[in-house]
Amino acid sequence: MWRSLLPVGRSDRTGGYRRFSFTPADIECRDWFRLEAAHRGLRVETDRNGNLWAWWDPERPAAGTGVVVTGSHLDSVPDGGAFDGPLGVVSAFAATDLLVKARVAPVRPIGVVAFAEEEGARFGMACLGSRLLTGAVTAENARALTDADGVTFAEAMAAAGLDPEAIGPDPDLLSRIEAFVELHVEQGSALAGMDAAVGVAESIWPHGRWRIDFAGRADHAGTTKLTDRRDPMLPYAATVLAARTVATEVGSLATFGRVAAQPGAANAISSAVSAWLDARAPDEERLKELVSQVTAVAELSGTSHGVTVTSRCESLTPAVEFDLDLRDRVVAALAEQGIDPPVLPTGAGHDAGVLAAAVPAAMLFVRNRTGVSHSPAEHAEPEDCEAGVIALAAVLEELACR
Ligand SMILES: [Zn+2]
Repeated sequence: MWRSLLPVGRSDRTGGYRRFSFTPADIECRDWFRLEAAHRGLRVETDRNGNLWAWWDPERPAAGTGVVVTGSHLDSVPDGGAFDGPLGVVSAFAATDLLVKARVAPVRPIGVVAFAEEEGARFGMACLGSRLLTGAVTAENARALTDADGVTFAEAMAAAGLDPEAIGPDPDLLSRIEAFVELHVEQGSALAGMDAAVGVAESIWPHGRWRIDFAGRADHAGTTKLTDRRDPMLPYAATVLAARTVATEVGSLATFGRVAAQPGAANAISSAVSAWLDARAPDEERLKELVSQVTAVAELSGTSHGVTVTSRCESLTPAVEFDLDLRDRVVAALAEQGIDPPVLPTGAGHDAGVLAAAVPAAMLFVRNRTGVSHSPAEHAEPEDCEAGVIALAAVLEELACR
């Protein structure tokens, strides 16, 4: 399974992945998902929001209509790693294989899910598929999101054969989910220091994305006196440096990973610079403090350079505390396998974090020896991935087969 997915959307030049929602690479990942489901006789559905579900229906269902869901996402950041997302989907299918092999049958349907546009790499809003499902974003707002070429989410969905008019919350589906467990490669190095292949999530830091636009005046780099310039690059640069300083002071994280200068000529002063601030903090108070201090520096520096600064929040995810009862059951199921998993907070957002607002959700993390993620260097050892599958199978057995 892993080998068949590896070449899809990989850039020969960087070795990283570019699996952006509803592009050919993403469609190929979706076809791969359908094929893996078909191999196992699972029933595949695409929900109204473009999320893919593969269902293993029990032969002897228990009373009630609850389902247990596991999975993750298949899309990537630009030049992302192979594990972020796909590991959770591949491990979900592999865990069902282990149950079949052990002749353990579900008494509740088990769903394997691949959420759409988790990274927000194309349309700017992370976890878009799960946010639509839970109603954390309105259908109207989602339809209007645009990619770098001006294509709207609605147009991209329609081009992929989906109906953008049908998107929105799905309370029927949500009400049936008794538990959602997402396995994910750890995007830090906490487990590497603990000598544990698998960990369990405690909470997700509140985090968000802010777009800051610096509007100046384009001019000639060789003839415009420094004092006559309204160069938006200068307040942008001051803002980047301030973000680092403030993040250190507040005990949080701030990153500018995306910037666009207009018109983008090497011999011209920019007319405008757009930059995206990714901010994360242990609590909402500190996140607010971080963002307000960074945008204050942007505005102050903009004023001193004759540059107009505007900022707006593109996405904001509150702090997530995962369901305690579900976590206890997960830890107990792992204990039966002789696994004593560390319980960890994380600064990375996940579909499980979005779903946690609507259903009991939990996460398993698989050790990442270097801690590198959102990069082609992201890696998890095969034996750690296998430990993850065994752990996930034990959790599914506990939640869906008893
Ligand atoms: Zn991910």
